[in-house]
Amino acid sequence: MSARKKCPQCGKINLPDDNFCKDCGFELKEYGPEDFVIIEHLKASLYSSILCIAIFIGFMILISAALISQYLVQAIIPFLIIWPIVIGFMVWATRYLRGLSKIRKFIITDDYIEIVVPHKTNFKVNWSDFDSIEITKRESITTVPTTDAVILGPRFVYFTLIFKGMSYEQNYEFESGKDFKVRTKKKIIAALEKYAKEKGKNFTGWKWKDKRRVKKALKD
Ligand SMILES: [Zn+2]
Repeated sequence: MSARKKCPQCGKINLPDDNFCKDCGFELKEYGPEDFVIIEHLKASLYSSILCIAIFIGFMILISAALISQYLVQAIIPFLIIWPIVIGFMVWATRYLRGLSKIRKFIITDDYIEIVVPHKTNFKVNWSDFDSIEITKRESITTVPTTDAVILGPRFVYFTLIFKGMSYEQNYEFESGKDFKVRTKKKIIAALEKYAKEKGKNFTGWKWKDKRRVKKALKD
């Protein structure tokens, strides 16, 4: 007798024969013990981000109140600068945070690798289609140049998984800490290396050591 299936996305208990959640439509698949399966959401980072934004807005309201009590009507000039920035930031933040509470999946089976991240096209690649996996990393730091100095914004770290065959190439880029938790990203890379070895595929991973070596080589 198979057990009832609890949906990892919404928590609804579904019947053993259900392949999709009756409430939210999430695919309820069963995986073998030899499969590498990660199913997670980022609700915790969503809530902490919302808290940060609330504190930031509260701070801006305090500044505004202080400006009004100090300068009355003249306060309109700083208002016209502060609030468009605050609103712009909020619009960006809501777009950025959208989907954080939704389920993401990373699955390696004997046949394929599958990646499901909300708001991204689902990715699937068969082991038989490629000969090597390469992982590259890129970082982007947003900067806000002001008259005095450059303000550093949040830092984004992206990893690209490159699956290459004789006449085949598929890439998948994910953002560390947003598409998957930072800790999960490490597990994913380790699992890819392990399975690639088992399957006899070449694996080139991004490593700190390599980066340091490149830096040193550039200096010398
Ligand atoms: Zn569900």
